Amino acid sequence: MNNSINNGGKTHVKYDHFHYPRVIELHCPKCNAQALASNKDAPPGIEHFIEIAEFEKCWNIKCLTCDFRTTKKWEEMKIFKLWLKREIRDVEFWAWNRNHLHMILKRLKNENLESDRWSFFETYIPGIWLTQLRGKRELKKIEHLMIK
Ligand SMILES: [Zn+2]
Repeated sequence: MNNSINNGGKTHVKYDHFHYPRVIELHCPKCNAQALASNKDAPPGIEHFIEIAEFEKCWNIKCLTCDFRTTKKWEEMKIFKLWLKREIRDVEFWAWNRNHLHMILKRLKNENLESDRWSFFETYIPGIWLTQLRGKRELKKIEHLMIK
């Protein structure tokens, strides 16, 4: 049942509402080290939330190295560079955060996603990742991001 990653119908239903990650790993705009954006309202137990959730779409951003701090609305977050991003075989690969990345890795390796808290995002994995990034070398590059 769960092999319908290329099933357009399944994907369409999910596009009705956008899902927001609670935590996003970013590059600090001041020192380029790792910064974390955490949704202001969503409690730590939550990995992601849907558009209709009562949480405001506002993230507190904090650099782990320097004193950079700010709060941004979702629409304003695009100015930041994702921390977990790299080009692999001319394909742009990225993840919101480590847990998201871990789910994608499991998917690329055909591992079971049933209990994964990011499994909802499986349908958002670009088809090109599933066709181009499953080789040993590509997976190794993605695994390197896990320890970045
Ligand atoms: Zn910084």
